[in-house]
Amino acid sequence: MRGWMVAGNWKMHNTQDEARTLSKYIVDNTVNIQGGEIVLAPPFTSLSVVYDVIKGSQVKLAAQNMYYEDKGAYTGEVSPAMLKDTGCSYVIIGHSERRKYFHETDEGVNLKTKKALSSGLMPIVCVGETLEEREKGITEYVVGIQVKKALNGIDGIADIVIAYEPVWAIGTGKNATPEEAEAVQKFIRGIVRDIYGSAADNLKILYGGSVTADNIGSLIEMEDIDGALVGGASLKGEGFVGIIKRVAEKR
Ligand code: PEP
Repeated sequence: MRGWMVAGNWKMHNTQDEARTLSKYIVDNTVNIQGGEIVLAPPFTSLSVVYDVIKGSQVKLAAQNMYYEDKGAYTGEVSPAMLKDTGCSYVIIGHSERRKYFHETDEGVNLKTKKALSSGLMPIVCVGETLEEREKGITEYVVGIQVKKALNGIDGIADIVIAYEPVWAIGTGKNATPEEAEAVQKFIRGIVRDIYGSAADNLKILYGGSVTADNIGSLIEMEDIDGALVGGASLKGEGFVGIIKRVAEKR
């Protein structure tokens, strides 16, 4: 069984004190939950603080981005080695906000995914269509290209997680219905199966887009939804733990 994952993407939120308090709440309230992976992705400035709180627990650390070079004159960037040094085991790559505001391309996502893997970080690769693309009926075309390009030249997918995040559902309070999400999640697994065969059955594919403790229950019942990448609702300890508990109960 591929198990589940719930990852909290804090985006550009939380000072170090706030990060310490929130991560402590999550560690303390997930002690008895088993069978999956719980991941927190604070901003770079709080990675060390959160790592100090979570180390020794089952909660793991992710960065929200990284660069694909080891070191050099790349002002403002952070390398995979630096992330590992602060305790990260995961890195989010190609989030739609990075694609939209920082002009990340599928080619850049591919370079970062390869570099994360060769550096021993597990990439959580984000894909998803915009509202305009959905309305034009080209969701599968767009997501298919994103997935294929992200995985281009990568030998195995054992250490990769994919997050399907329809852009129109991120931070909008409008989430995809379980059936809408499942259709794309299944499509993604099909593409991965075409390339990697039965390894696709072990790939975790998360759903992301306005997930809350109230709506995760029906999403997680879908066969190809293996957990959630959570933005807004990961900023409140109670709500985030509520999501984790519902996922753990149903999987
Ligand atoms: C995200 O940032 O990945 C996300 C899904 O955000 P939200 O849950 O706020 O829609």
